[in-house]
Amino acid sequence: MKSKILLIGIDGLNLDTGLENAPTLVALKEKGFFTPITIEPPTWSGPSWSTILTGAKHSQHGVFDNSFTGHKLLHHPDLLSRAYYQDQSTTTFAAAGWPPLVDPIGHGPIIHERREQAKALRHRVLVRDGETYGYTHVDAEIAAAAQYAISHHGPDVSFVYFCGVDEAGHAFGSIGDEYRGAIARIDAYLDNLLQAVQARASQEEPWLIVVTTDHGHIDEGGHGGDSAKERASFVVAHGVGRKNPLWPQSFEPHQLVDLLLAERA
Ligand SMILES: [Zn+2]
Repeated sequence: MKSKILLIGIDGLNLDTGLENAPTLVALKEKGFFTPITIEPPTWSGPSWSTILTGAKHSQHGVFDNSFTGHKLLHHPDLLSRAYYQDQSTTTFAAAGWPPLVDPIGHGPIIHERREQAKALRHRVLVRDGETYGYTHVDAEIAAAAQYAISHHGPDVSFVYFCGVDEAGHAFGSIGDEYRGAIARIDAYLDNLLQAVQARASQEEPWLIVVTTDHGHIDEGGHGGDSAKERASFVVAHGVGRKNPLWPQSFEPHQLVDLLLAERA
């Protein structure tokens, strides 16, 4: 049976620091599938999310920094578009506070609604601007909207994105109380989303909850380089109303999209 897929992106999460402050993520990791993955440098959000969400490598999608200059994203449809093309009854939902991920005005976006999806009214998107208004506020709105969407619409494939952890890493470094506090805050949102899924998932409506990040941080805060800490990422995948996925114990970031689409076959 086809699973509904909820992919949750937590920007700039060092798992080393994160697990102490993230009981929900720890529980998902222990009950679910887990593998570390290694991000291709440069470890910026633009290239990394482009790779994770489209399945194309940096050299293919042409995103090498956060300017998106010269990108080829139009030729590399994202997970949500590909799920729709795979089955045109598929409903999709995206919510993010970093505009290049979802905002049709401006750079990208990486998750780019195709005309067919728009015409079929199969796609919902929530765009916020955390760069301008701050992610503490914006992540809370994203979490509330995503919880509502899961509970009331049960979209077939979703991407929900939080950036407060990355913001705290840049401002205060990635080993202090502020970074840990941001992780605890996002983990509570993760718990809300998990509960919304658990309330409706069943054998007739199986769900797969997947959590990943686009890069880590150096201790002082910051990323973009090729150190192990900056390149460290992971994939957690937990089935609700179904078994965990039987994925290879190690894979590369660009391979995640195909693994997810296979769960929709
Ligand atoms: Zn960052």
